[in-house]
Amino acid sequence: MILEGGTIHTADPALPRVRALPIDDRGRITRGVEAWEGETSAVSTERINLDGRTIIPGFVDAHVHFLSWALDRLRVDVRDAPTGAAALELIAERAAADRAAGTDGTWLIAAGWTEAMLAELNDPAAALDAATGGRPAAVWARDRHALWLGGAALAQLGGDAIRREDAAWATPLPEPTRAERQRAVALGQQEAHRLGLTGIHDFERRGGRRTWQELDEQDRVTLRVASALSAEHLDAIDQLEMIAGFGSEHVRIAAVKGFLDGTVGARTAHMLEPYDDGGLGMDLLPTDDLIEVIRRSAALGLPVALHAIGDAAVRSALDALERTRANWADLAETHGRPPRIEHAQLIHPADLGRFAELGVIASMQPVHAAEDRAAAQAAWGTRCSGAYAWRPLVESGATLAFGTDAPISPLDPIATLAAAVAVPLLPGHEVDVATALTAMTVTPSSIVGLDRRVGRLAPGHFADLVVLDRDPFETPPEELAAIQVVATMVGGRWVHGHPPW
Ligand SMILES: [Zn+2]
Ligand SMILES: [Zn+2]
Repeated sequence: MILEGGTIHTADPALPRVRALPIDDRGRITRGVEAWEGETSAVSTERINLDGRTIIPGFVDAHVHFLSWALDRLRVDVRDAPTGAAALELIAERAAADRAAGTDGTWLIAAGWTEAMLAELNDPAAALDAATGGRPAAVWARDRHALWLGGAALAQLGGDAIRREDAAWATPLPEPTRAERQRAVALGQQEAHRLGLTGIHDFERRGGRRTWQELDEQDRVTLRVASALSAEHLDAIDQLEMIAGFGSEHVRIAAVKGFLDGTVGARTAHMLEPYDDGGLGMDLLPTDDLIEVIRRSAALGLPVALHAIGDAAVRSALDALERTRANWADLAETHGRPPRIEHAQLIHPADLGRFAELGVIASMQPVHAAEDRAAAQAAWGTRCSGAYAWRPLVESGATLAFGTDAPISPLDPIATLAAAVAVPLLPGHEVDVATALTAMTVTPSSIVGLDRRVGRLAPGHFADLVVLDRDPFETPPEELAAIQVVATMVGGRWVHGHPPW
C-alpha cells in the first residue's frame, strides 16, 4: 500500500516529511519514498490518495484507566451537570429508563460528581436514594478519588456515604461481569480508534489487564496496550517473573505504579506548605517504602510510574529516584524504560530542573489545567507558577509524555493537543505543536520499549498512524480543537475510517 497526495509528517528526524508512505503487507513502513521511488517490489500496488489530508504517527495516551472509562461510557456521567440537583436529575432519568427496560436489578453506578455539587446537598445518601427510587447506587467523583453511596447501598455495606482515596477504592462495589467488561472494552477500543489513538498506557486498577488478555486471546485487540502493575503486588510480580515487555504484540507489561498522594480537588495532594486550613494533604508512600518500591521494581526489570500531584509528593518522588539512581539507570539507559512521575501537577521551582537532570519523564495531562483551574488556584494560590508547568519543564530539558487520565478527562487526543498548545493554566506554560505531538506519539512509544517499532513513521516501524483533515503544524492554536480524525491505522490495517473518504 502506498499513501500519497497529502502532507506526511514522519516524526523521524532523518526525514521529517515524505511525499508518499509505502507500507508492506506485514504492516511495516518499508522506506521513505525518496529511496523507494521506482522500486515497487516490496509493496503492493494499492495506492491511496490523501487528497491533501495530513498523516502523523498514531496518538498514544500515556495515562488512562481504560476499563473504568469504557464502563463509564455506558453509564450515567454527571460531570457536565451545573449543580448537584442537576446531577441527581440525570441519575433519576437513568434509574427510570432502567426500570422501564427491566434492567434495574443491579446497582446503579454513575460518575462525575465534584465537591461543589456535593456541597449543595444536606444528606447526600438520602438524596441519591430519592433519585434512584431506593435502588442501591454509587457515584464516583470526577477525579475518581472519592465515592458517594446512597442509603440503599449503605444498608448492604455499612460505613460512610462519602469515602475518599483508599476507602473509596476498597469499597466492594458489585463487579461488572466478564461479558460486561469485554463488551465495554471492545466498544471503547473502537471509540479510541475513532479518536485517533493507536496505543494507550493503561493504569487500570482492577479487571483491566484481565479484560485485555481475554480479548487478545480472541485476536480482538487492535490498540497497543502498555499495562501498569500495582506496587502493592510486587511480591506476586516477583513470583510470576514478569519483566517489562512481558505479554503480546498488543498487550504488554510496562511499569509499576505507586501512589504518593491524592488530588488537588480534594486537597489531598501532598504539600510542602499548608493549604488554607493548615493541612498538608496526604503522604501515602513514606520515603523508605518508596525507595524500596523503586529498588524492587528495578531489580525485577520494571520502571516505576509514581502518582505525585502536590509539590511535596513530586519532591519526595525525585528525592527517592535520585537516591536509587544506580538501581534503575541501566533499565532507563540500556532498555529505554525511564522512571516517570504521573501528573506532576505542582512542582516547586527548586525541583523543576531535576526531571531533566535525573532523566525522569513528566507524564502530564494537559486538559487537567482547564478542568482544575478553579480548584488549583483556590488551593495553591500564588504557588500556581509551578503548576501544570509544561513549557518550563521542556525548557529545562525534561521529556514530557501527555495523556488524559481518562475517565477523569475525556479520552480525546485532539483535545489534549489543543489544551497543551492553547489552554495552559498560566500564560507561558503552553508548548508548541511539535512538542505536544512528540509527547503524544514518539515519547509514549519509546518509554515503554517500543522505540524501534512504533511512534515514528520510519522504515521498519509498524504503520501506526492517523489521517487528519488538516495539518496541525499549519493550524492556528485556537483552531486545533476543530481538527478531525479521518482515519486510524494500526500495523498497516485500517481500524477506523477505511478509505475512500
Ligand atoms: Zn494518578
Ligand atoms: Zn490515573
